[in-house]
Amino acid sequence: MTATSRDLEGRTALVTGGAQGIGLETAKLLAAAGARVAICDLAESGEAALQALGGAGAYFRCDVSDAEAVERTVGAVVERFGTLDILINNAGIAIDGLLLRMKRDDWERTIDINLSGAFYFCKAAVRHLLKARSGGRIVNISSVVGEQGNAGQVAYSASKAGLIGVTRSLARELAGRGVTVNAVAPGFIATRMTDDHVQGENRERLVAAIPLGRVGEPREVAEAVRFLCGPGAAYITGQVLRVNGGLYM
Ligand code: NAD
Repeated sequence: MTATSRDLEGRTALVTGGAQGIGLETAKLLAAAGARVAICDLAESGEAALQALGGAGAYFRCDVSDAEAVERTVGAVVERFGTLDILINNAGIAIDGLLLRMKRDDWERTIDINLSGAFYFCKAAVRHLLKARSGGRIVNISSVVGEQGNAGQVAYSASKAGLIGVTRSLARELAGRGVTVNAVAPGFIATRMTDDHVQGENRERLVAAIPLGRVGEPREVAEAVRFLCGPGAAYITGQVLRVNGGLYM
């Protein structure tokens, strides 16, 4: 599914959590397709990420769980680039633990970042997306866990299932206005998130359950996101595209 054309020329994309992992690979593919890319992430500076984009982007420091900061950031992106055509809600965290041991703070932080963060960005971006010349695009990064559930991930899976609800409802709200809204649900992907959380026997057990027999690469998720942003996906909305090696069918 590797797309090589520059069919996003002249468009502006905003990628939350784009400093590393799936978000950074997505930013790189969107930039390679001709888009100007705004990376929004937590660190003060995103020099390394911007270098990877080859000069096609800008970095905006933003905590996605801060509604006012999100408003300001979207305003700054539009001021910088003139338009906002594509929104990728990718920023996310995983705080794992069985329900009995999970702290209320962990639940709230997970929902605030993974779900409310996407809501704030959709809300702040929508009026700009409605003006996008070739049709606005929103892609929300959900997870296999949002559909399947997972012991020890009540908060994370609730946030990711919530994103699917946001995707389907907003797809219906915006379909008549030329904006498509889809979700990508990755399976087990090799990023810092899984390096930190899934190790040893647990990792081996997980890989053994994947029909394609291996962990996915961030680039393989980014390819799906990039497809949903391009003209070839104009008739796709309200869908969940699973990129999981067959882990959940
Ligand atoms: P990652 O940890 O490598 O990257 C996440 C990025 O989000 C980081 O750059 C981080 O700084 C940023 N971020 C975290 N909190 C933020 C906040 N409050 N404001 C702004 N930025 C914030 O993880 P990844 O694996 O690349 O994950 C990207 C997305 O894909 C996440 O939503 C994750 O839940 C989802 N996902 C990942 C996997 C996987 O196996 N790696 C599977 C399914 C879904």
